Amino acid sequence: MTFSIHGLAVSRGIAIGRAVLVASSRADVAHYFIEPDKIAEEVQRVKVARDAVVEEITRVQRELPKEAPPELAALLDVHLMLLQDEQLSTGVKHWITERHYNGEWAVTTQYEVFARQFDEMQDPYLRERKADLEQVTERILRYLKGAGSPVQPPAPSRRAQQDLLLGDTLDVPLVLIAHDMAPADMLQFKQSLFAGFATDVGGRTSHTAIVARSMDIPAVVGARSASQLIKQDDWVIIDGEAGVLIVDPSPIILAEYGFKQRQGELERERLNRLRHTPAVTLDGQKVELLANIELPEDTKGAVAAGAVGVGLFRSEFLFMGRGGALPNEEEQYQAYVRALEGMHGLPVTIRTVDIGSDKPLERSARQDTHLNPALGLRAIRWSLADPPMFLTQLRAILRAAAHGQVNLLVPMLGHVREIRQTLSLLDHARVQLDNRGVPYGPVKLGAMIEVPAAALMLKVFLKYFDFLSVGTNDLIQYTLAIDRADEAVAHLYDPCHPAVLRLLADTIAECRAQGKPVSVCGEMAGDVGMTRLLLGLGLREFSMHPTQILAVKQQVLRADAAKLEAWAQQVILSDDPAQALLAG
Ligand code: PEP
Ligand code: MG
Repeated sequence: MTFSIHGLAVSRGIAIGRAVLVASSRADVAHYFIEPDKIAEEVQRVKVARDAVVEEITRVQRELPKEAPPELAALLDVHLMLLQDEQLSTGVKHWITERHYNGEWAVTTQYEVFARQFDEMQDPYLRERKADLEQVTERILRYLKGAGSPVQPPAPSRRAQQDLLLGDTLDVPLVLIAHDMAPADMLQFKQSLFAGFATDVGGRTSHTAIVARSMDIPAVVGARSASQLIKQDDWVIIDGEAGVLIVDPSPIILAEYGFKQRQGELERERLNRLRHTPAVTLDGQKVELLANIELPEDTKGAVAAGAVGVGLFRSEFLFMGRGGALPNEEEQYQAYVRALEGMHGLPVTIRTVDIGSDKPLERSARQDTHLNPALGLRAIRWSLADPPMFLTQLRAILRAAAHGQVNLLVPMLGHVREIRQTLSLLDHARVQLDNRGVPYGPVKLGAMIEVPAAALMLKVFLKYFDFLSVGTNDLIQYTLAIDRADEAVAHLYDPCHPAVLRLLADTIAECRAQGKPVSVCGEMAGDVGMTRLLLGLGLREFSMHPTQILAVKQQVLRADAAKLEAWAQQVILSDDPAQALLAG
């Protein structure tokens, strides 16, 4: 029966596919498609792992001391029964042969199917057997890992994946449905197998949503109980623009969305023609459209979209999902140089690491025990709390600057003391490199304006910095006291709130008055509904996901910046700017 689930719209477009439910705790399990000629081998690999677990449990059972409690023997019996269940092997085999999932993915998928059945059982004893099933699955996964399973998928090209997805054997695209997904886990899906995805939790500017947007696939977050209501393999439509999921759609609905999907594709093709057109307004104002990236490899998309540089390299993505081990200087230096090379001489703004809040180093830290992680040891605070770590990053950035134009951007500053400490560490990093005789280059120094305190002391900031970049995602969060990742208060997260617009307008105006460059690198910069207002406020540098550049460029090309000035002032002074924006 068709039903719909409403959440928050994250990115444009429509995806139609079968649901793949991924539990957050399983996101680090390798997910990739195997080649058709490897099916038998993969089925056998899982069988070998399962047999090994059976053998292990049988041995433990055999060697149980006489005084062992009888429940233990009974428990091992249950484990053996679950392992030898016909449905387990048939289910796993199904996912491998029909869907071409790798062994680990097939095992966890089948686990999810069973877990759902256990959840629905009336008998509490049987319901509790889910924990046993989980343990058994864990053991198989451990064996699969030990049996030389590649941690990284063999990374087939995107094209090959598409062939696989659209080819004869597997003509169904897949959509990912999860309760939650850490930003680092989302990265695993970046070379995406998936045509779209949805999570139960999260806000529009949560970092999970940001990574989703950068993947340019339809996504919905904050869809509450989607992962409970949708079953493995259900047909789902994800409308990323309306923030709606339609489950088990009727043929009529499918046809309607199929039509919308094709319209969207045509629109993209049309926009593609603007790739080489310079972003200049009707009255001749040049506008810089820059890219936000998470990894050096993202520069490919940035160049393809015609970005004139990287306005925000979120370097923390080099730090996340590594089990807490930090990248060393050489590794970081190589990554920054790769980004510079990827941009072919265009400037790259590297933001120092912004770990904390909804971007934990490790997944386990997601259950952060701090009461207000967004107000805690995050971004520059985290860096200043660990000078050796911060110096390592600063040295790597300075060294990369010998290879091209690097701007160094510091997140979340709010105190002069923090500014001074940062500058002093930067000097110290230079001295360390001098002492080692290692070459490095000059950097322009910028601060992010993302806490109201910073926006209210611009003159001080501009004494120390060459440029400013407004992080509207956090500026909104901290001005309005709304957790950007919490769907329960998402309706109050308002980019058009007069207080937010006031801080933004003042920042742009002060920078212009002092002749210092200013950009916006929060999600607002890529929102076509905001382009005219930002132009009217005097903004000339916008940094966004490469996938949004062409749509924003279209707005720029149609705008008369001088005429927008008076209107923009009216909008920000009105009681209800969102309404005034629509009317204008
Ligand atoms: C912002 O806060 O607007 C920003 C660009 O930084 P991040 O989204 O990474 O916190
Ligand atoms: Mg921020």
